[in-house]
Amino acid sequence: MTSESTTHAPESHVFQAEVARLLHLMVHSVYSNKDIYLRELVSNAADACEKLRWRALTEAGLMAEGTRLAITITPKHGTLTVADNGIGMDRDELIQNLGTIAKSGTKAFIDEIADKSEGSRLIGQFGVGFYSAFMVADTVDVISRKAGSAEAWKWRSDGLGTFNIEPVALDDAPVHGTRVILMLKDDAKTFGETDTIERIIREYSAHVPVPIELVVPAAEGGEGGPKELTDGSALWTKSKSDVSKEDYTDFYRNVAGAWDEPALTLHYRAEGRHEYSVLLFVPSMKPFDLFDPDRKGKVKLYVRRVFIADDVELLPAWARFVRGVIDSEDLPLNLSREMLQSNPVLEAIRKAVTTRILSELTKLAENDAETFAKVWDAFGPVIKEGLYEAADRRDDLFKLVRFKTTKSGDGTRSLAEYVKDLKENQTRIFYVLADTPERAVASPHLEGFKSRDVEVLLLTDPVDAFWVRTALGYDGKPFQSVTQGSSDLDAIPLPENAEKPADSAPEKTAGVIAYLKDQLGDRVGDVRASSRLAESPACLVAPDFGPDKQFEKIMARHEGMNARSTKPILEINPTHAQIVAFASQIESGAKSDLEDAAIILFGQAKILDGEAPDDPADFAKRLGRVMTKAMA
Ligand code: ADP
Repeated sequence: MTSESTTHAPESHVFQAEVARLLHLMVHSVYSNKDIYLRELVSNAADACEKLRWRALTEAGLMAEGTRLAITITPKHGTLTVADNGIGMDRDELIQNLGTIAKSGTKAFIDEIADKSEGSRLIGQFGVGFYSAFMVADTVDVISRKAGSAEAWKWRSDGLGTFNIEPVALDDAPVHGTRVILMLKDDAKTFGETDTIERIIREYSAHVPVPIELVVPAAEGGEGGPKELTDGSALWTKSKSDVSKEDYTDFYRNVAGAWDEPALTLHYRAEGRHEYSVLLFVPSMKPFDLFDPDRKGKVKLYVRRVFIADDVELLPAWARFVRGVIDSEDLPLNLSREMLQSNPVLEAIRKAVTTRILSELTKLAENDAETFAKVWDAFGPVIKEGLYEAADRRDDLFKLVRFKTTKSGDGTRSLAEYVKDLKENQTRIFYVLADTPERAVASPHLEGFKSRDVEVLLLTDPVDAFWVRTALGYDGKPFQSVTQGSSDLDAIPLPENAEKPADSAPEKTAGVIAYLKDQLGDRVGDVRASSRLAESPACLVAPDFGPDKQFEKIMARHEGMNARSTKPILEINPTHAQIVAFASQIESGAKSDLEDAAIILFGQAKILDGEAPDDPADFAKRLGRVMTKAMA
């Protein structure tokens, strides 16, 4: 550093608007659990050490031979310093990392936590960790020197909208790494007490893979000096019998930035062609950004205890909720990023670990339905993406998927349960696609299934429309939409005690069909009688081999294109009073109101489908005319 630059006056910068709001929340801390600030700072310090350890493998001279990477916590005169000798930050990084939030969805997130008391649980997940320092500090100084740089910088803020940046003399900075110095608030002085610090570290950071030292002040009895709180040993290298449930939970919370208990813990060592250790967790709660397209799988890759990266796709996308560590014994340490993405060893690990996750989840589903229900509730829609994207895993995934069905009540049903309860002559697995379970159940297409007591899957996740089209079937039974094709319902007998529909007269129905075909022209692909309906007079269905109607709607919404829709088929219910009346009207030859009746019937079917009649004004006029007559 030149003497010139040390005389620079501090530059003032304004926080990004979202950061300012977040800081406001922190300063006026609404969270009862302030302890977490230390976990966040320690976790950043550990990441910085791991980054340097990795970079130093390929950049000679970045770190002196024999350097021991560690985190040091020093309480002194109302301040608390969390120091690391990791990678450090240069001026631009200080401004960027501690002045903005890079992640998408920030605003929505802050809106969400602003009025929630469990906000603290979400903080770590979102990675706004550093700012939590302002829960306990009036002022925060960050002095940092980037490894390999000849400059050191100080960032300072009171969390009230701006921060300052100024250069500092190298003598006042670490050789490489960062010191975060908190001027503790009056009501937060206990965080400067060694007992408190030890307690928090033991509770939240016991398994951080970098050693943590506490510098005990001499005043507190004895000589004072450094005391090792944790040794930074890697939990995943220990044998299962040496690790307690609490150790696992603590490690999971650190690695995932989470606050829940893991629903499933997988800890094993693979030997054979490839050697690696696995410590993975399935969370029991959904992170807020599960569907964020930028979200990467957060399984950390280590090579022989050295952290390599946390943005390598170690698991398929449908398992992106899994958290933890995979540590390979075979990979070279100095792999480039490009090589990581297409490395055959990693590919083999990915395959084997995916198989293991599937089998463990299946076991959980069989042995602990209650915990599995939590997992399914949180991650079901993501797991279902695998049905579409991972055809080779589909049969295994079919064992896991659970559905709301017309018979599931408050619970869910598996495909195995569905197939076990098939009705006589039922050869297919029926489903209905809709936006919500309520809409699904209200679909007129379900009526005939209800009266035959045939179970129907209620598919309400956007991804359902996709996998169900490409899946060939389960246990030899194809999937079929209730809104599609002739549903073969006739073959399934009505239950003994069911109300038998009034005898329909096929020739009368034929008259109605002929009239409707003539009247509706090319607005419909066909008109036919249906056994699908019980209470409704008519409904629209998709042709036998065309796409499901709901699928067409979803595609139109997604791609913003005009629905390239195939013409619907109008199915009528020959036993419904409205159709019976229609038929006698035709028979009696009094054709005056028939045109209105045909257009209204078609409009009704569209409304039941969640759409507007083709010409709403014309529909309303005709309806008005018919009502006036009926009430005259
Ligand atoms: P997160 O750690 O989730 O990214 P933070 O707000 O805690 O969010 O930190 C923002 C960024 O600041 C980090 O991603 C990191 O790049 C940088 N940072 C924070 N603390 C340190 C540190 N001690 N050493 C190096 N970089 C740090």
